Amino acid sequence: EQTQSTDEDGRTDVEKLDKEYVFGTWSYQSEVEPTEIVGGDGVRFRDAHENEWIDFSGQLMCSNLGHSADAVADAIAEQAHEGAYFAPGFATEARAKLGEKLAEVTPGDLSKTFFSTSGTEAVEAAIKIARMYTGKQKIISRYRSYHGATAGSISVTGDPRRLMAEPGVPGAIKAPDPYAYGSTLEPMESLEYIDEMLMLEGDTVAAILVEPVVGSNGILVPPDEYLPRLKEIAHDHGALLICDEVMAGFGRTGEWFGSDVFDVQPDIMTMAKGLSGAYVPLGATIVTPEIADHFEDEMFCHGHTYAGHPVACAAGLAAIETYQEENLIEHASDVGDYLGQRLEELADAHPSVGDTRGVGLFRGIELTKDPDERVPFGEREDKISTGSTVVDDVAAAAADRGVYIANMINTLIIAPPLTITEDDI
Ligand code: PLP
Repeated sequence: EQTQSTDEDGRTDVEKLDKEYVFGTWSYQSEVEPTEIVGGDGVRFRDAHENEWIDFSGQLMCSNLGHSADAVADAIAEQAHEGAYFAPGFATEARAKLGEKLAEVTPGDLSKTFFSTSGTEAVEAAIKIARMYTGKQKIISRYRSYHGATAGSISVTGDPRRLMAEPGVPGAIKAPDPYAYGSTLEPMESLEYIDEMLMLEGDTVAAILVEPVVGSNGILVPPDEYLPRLKEIAHDHGALLICDEVMAGFGRTGEWFGSDVFDVQPDIMTMAKGLSGAYVPLGATIVTPEIADHFEDEMFCHGHTYAGHPVACAAGLAAIETYQEENLIEHASDVGDYLGQRLEELADAHPSVGDTRGVGLFRGIELTKDPDERVPFGEREDKISTGSTVVDDVAAAAADRGVYIANMINTLIIAPPLTITEDDI
């Protein structure tokens, strides 16, 4: 953990090797300049240039337990020693107990889980399950959404990251969003629009797929009555409701799941990120008993080598036990309220802060050129991630002060580990 020698460009050996041999995600390779990280502890981490950072976004809104959750790390090591991997056809204690635990913490009677290794895969499985269960093919999702990067999940993604992959898989249809600050439609009007879409699509829609609280597309919290009414609309038209809880799940909103904020039980729920607290890659798709029963007599044609990987499941189980034992969901709700109050002060104090919004420890600061007219900073034309470079500049200025904040589309995304204290906020 000592400071390392650097070359004339200020790069450490690791940074040089990484740049040369690793394909960067979502980027022009020429622009990739990764900073070497040497360790993490709680809500903080350290780089190889002697800087300490406070993690105000939980990395990619996934490090919900912070960077030193020993119980999870120990469970990983223990399982790896006991037996790292057995094929999905075998039962392991870690997988069985994690399945039981997910049935306990997820809403209502959601109870049978398909395991995978990422949010993307969790969404792919949800799409396939919904199609097979309903016998219909179309999926309605919304424009301001992200559901993953593979063929199906990028096709149901609404934000500009989908554009490079278009036209994508057939049957992915986009609807407007509950975006009170920036949309011409009021949130509840956008819902009636979806009702009409379903009517016009006839009996061909398998599911409506939404993030209950939108994450990377700007932390959009719908009105209380939105999600219950969306479920009603879906069911009126013979479609399922899929809630993508990959980012909103596991305490992020101050409840176990974003769906719980609105007291709604979806038919299918996807999870990843906080499921293992980001200690290992783990995704999950949980369904109701009715949907599970359907596959008693129809083969579920889907699976991955690492579905239900024992090490990942052991980590997931230890992570959920940590949320429970340390009362982290309640804590997130309490400190989240405090964070919300402080952000409101910022909204009043700074002319470029257009809106601050969110719930629990899932909050956003939307920047604006003109708070009265709500004019966004200019669209960036050379990137498929939309937004302006201004929000990048703000995030970079925060980074210079040792504060790590993710951003997208004119919005700074504040989603620290749930263990954060009021002092750190
Ligand atoms: N769904 C949502 C709501 C997400 O926020 C993400 C990732 O950010 C995904 C799906 C995809 O998850 P992953 O990156 O683990 O594949």
